[in-house]
Amino acid sequence: MGTMIMIKCKNCHYMKPFQLGIGFAYSPNRLLDFDSKDSLLNYLIRSKKTLEHVKNLILEHDGDFIDYDLKLHHCPKCSGFYARFYYQIQFTDGLFEPDYKCTKCKHKLDVVPEQKDHEREEGVLDLSDYPCPECGEKSVSYYNSGNWD
Ligand SMILES: [Zn+2]
Ligand SMILES: [Zn+2]
Repeated sequence: MGTMIMIKCKNCHYMKPFQLGIGFAYSPNRLLDFDSKDSLLNYLIRSKKTLEHVKNLILEHDGDFIDYDLKLHHCPKCSGFYARFYYQIQFTDGLFEPDYKCTKCKHKLDVVPEQKDHEREEGVLDLSDYPCPECGEKSVSYYNSGNWD
């Protein structure tokens, strides 16, 4: 089950929902079902070039998803937040991780690290060092606004 979070700023009107984690439908079998009409990977990996690379790693280089979920990403240049499909593919010659670019300024996005909370299942995000995309103040926080599957 995935999590919906709402990021909001205490200093300005910035408020935006993000869908994180993985849904029930995100099974390894469905991820590897490249050819079906509603292929999950076609939906999750928007870049045609990256998608071809991923298929090639899996089909020709013994690649396997070892980790994947929708993670919060942040642009270090313009401070935008994004939910992007993070994954690692282990293949014969190493490990592949995707690079995502900011849709506004094209800078490479960073993954916002999650701290594991043992009381709860989902990871906890510490946003105190991230400036607000609108006003630039370090005054953003988030709350869980629900679940999705
Ligand atoms: Zn940016
Ligand atoms: Zn703000």
